[in-house]
Amino acid sequence: MTMTGIPERVRTLEETMSSWRREIHAHPELAFEEHRTAAFVAEQLGAMGLEVETGVGGTGVVATLRHGGSARAVGLRAELDALPIAEATGVPYASRTPGVMHACGHDGHCAMLMGAAKHLSDALGFDGTIRFIFQPAEENEAGGRAMIEDGLFDRFPVDDVFALHNEPGIPVGVFSVRPGPVTAALDLFEIRVEGETCHAARPHTGADAIACSAALVTALQTIVTRDVDPIDPAVLSVTWIEGGNSWNVLPAAVRLRGTARAFRREVQDVIEARMGETVAGVCAAHGCEGRLDYERRYPPTTNSTAAARAATDAARAVAGPDRVIVDRPPTTAAEDFAFMLQARPGCYGFVGNGDTAPLHTPEYDFNDDALVWGASYWTKLVEALLPI
Ligand SMILES: [Zn+2]
Ligand SMILES: [Zn+2]
Repeated sequence: MTMTGIPERVRTLEETMSSWRREIHAHPELAFEEHRTAAFVAEQLGAMGLEVETGVGGTGVVATLRHGGSARAVGLRAELDALPIAEATGVPYASRTPGVMHACGHDGHCAMLMGAAKHLSDALGFDGTIRFIFQPAEENEAGGRAMIEDGLFDRFPVDDVFALHNEPGIPVGVFSVRPGPVTAALDLFEIRVEGETCHAARPHTGADAIACSAALVTALQTIVTRDVDPIDPAVLSVTWIEGGNSWNVLPAAVRLRGTARAFRREVQDVIEARMGETVAGVCAAHGCEGRLDYERRYPPTTNSTAAARAATDAARAVAGPDRVIVDRPPTTAAEDFAFMLQARPGCYGFVGNGDTAPLHTPEYDFNDDALVWGASYWTKLVEALLPI
């Protein structure tokens, strides 16, 4: 054991984890297409002697490691998917697939969890069952929900489930864990504004869907400022407007799309209801008709108090007591792990990625120096939750 709390045997896995990470990084795959990545992960875990199941919820992989007689079981989750971004890192192991890259660090998450599996299967310093869960399609496509709908926790029961995400801007070797809300609910909406097309020089002969849409974008902003309790965080962003194809013709219809974020169901209820009323009212005032489609895509990610305490203790055991941030505010980004946390108690924490480019940018690269920290965290967490 070193001063930092990184087990010596995890330290010796650093190069192996780095090579796994770079192999996955060079061959990124989009949501539900992670066949090569899943096969690679399954092959490595099989070679460690784990029971490996593939094709869970599409391209998901679950590997099981048992030791001793305890009925306790813990789930540890990583993600397999990459993003539709053209990589601009210039690293030698950069994406070989044009327009697709690991810009969220899921390559690193896989490698650190595989490293933990290697260490735990060699050292066997636990009593119970570990489920290593590699989920597809974390980005936008709810691969976590797909795994649950495919019977994830019925076929591979766990008492608690944990995830660890890298975070640029937090130093390597520092963790961030908090109880309660971590990421917001992600809702998507589409509004269709139906007007009446006419010559742009004679707007009084039609119904202007563009002027109506402009008023609507402004009116929608008052939902967060006037209808939601200021104590409750909420976001409503119109991100996409489509309508018209000429200099001098007013179009028959305009389509608006966007996203809303909140941490509580009651706030989602207010936003959805007030959006419906606002669309109907503003469209009526402009002689148009409006239709709102509102979809609740991801629930909020909420850590259980007990699991967050176990995660904080594990991070402190690895990094040191003053190297774990416990008061970092939640983020309005969304996370597919929310579906797993609806099914089982657990905790979603962060490991520092150092001074790298932000997530989801072409310059981003997972920091290999974070691998031993992540793998050590997983190891400590399992040994604490499944003690011999
Ligand atoms: Zn992401
Ligand atoms: Zn991610």
